Amino acid sequence: MNTQSNPRSVAIVTGASRGIGAAIAERLAKDGHAVVVNYAGNRQEADQVVERIVASGGEAIALQADVSDPAAVQLLFEAAESRFGGVDVLVNNAGIMKLAPLVDSDDALFDSQIAINLKGTFNTLREGARRLRDGGRIVNLSTSVVGLRLESYGVYAATKSAVETLTAILSKELRGRSITVNAVAPGPTATALFLNGKSPELIDRMSKMNPLERLGTPADIANAVAFITGPDGGWINGQVLRANGGMV
Ligand code: NDP
Repeated sequence: MNTQSNPRSVAIVTGASRGIGAAIAERLAKDGHAVVVNYAGNRQEADQVVERIVASGGEAIALQADVSDPAAVQLLFEAAESRFGGVDVLVNNAGIMKLAPLVDSDDALFDSQIAINLKGTFNTLREGARRLRDGGRIVNLSTSVVGLRLESYGVYAATKSAVETLTAILSKELRGRSITVNAVAPGPTATALFLNGKSPELIDRMSKMNPLERLGTPADIANAVAFITGPDGGWINGQVLRANGGMV
């Protein structure tokens, strides 16, 4: 792939205004990629991620796009191409999580997670499959709850299960273009998505579910993405890397 040579490798990270996406954007910039910091609503935080990257000598721009909107995703890729000349790496990180037992899950809970987590990933995968330069890398964010099957995670985990299936199938469909497609499935990670609405006791209990007895950090997940998108990860394809401290 083009990493650290000419033309410069270009990465789009969706949902990069905060949390895991922001850490991935900053890490990929450090690894030599020009980075598109995508966000949905939080322009100020996205700009701050860009400022941190530029202050560290990297190259980045913030671009707004709701990944659930196929037209917006098309414009996102067009803007990335017109600014940087092409796209080599796509990290589908944007996601939401709404928890409830199935019996209490309303239509809005179902529809919003399908729209952003599943349709959003479909939109960017389709656009990425059309546009990524040969030799590129795609990483989708799943979740370890796909394996754990915890109560109240039903719809959320189902969207990520579907993302894992799309990952495996797209990795085959891109045969001949030297583009890898993988998923990273974090365990509980200290971001707003995980922490909001949980009691300190529940957070403590969930942080001990893995034998390393701590929550993941956004940087832990960014390290896994950096491996898959970096020079040492080129032979990994169609896989799900469960980055969760050993939680099963
Ligand atoms: P956060 O809630 O901290 O951040 C979510 C990011 O996604 C924000 O930048 C937000 O942008 C963006 N976003 C939300 N909706 C859209 C949309 N429609 N279009 C574009 N961007 C959008 O989440 P995390 O960092 O914790 O999660 C990142 C990914 O990791 C998600 O896919 C999540 O499912 C997955 N994950 C997280 C785990 C955890 O414990 N934290 C565990 C397992 C998986 P904005 O602020 O601008 O709206």
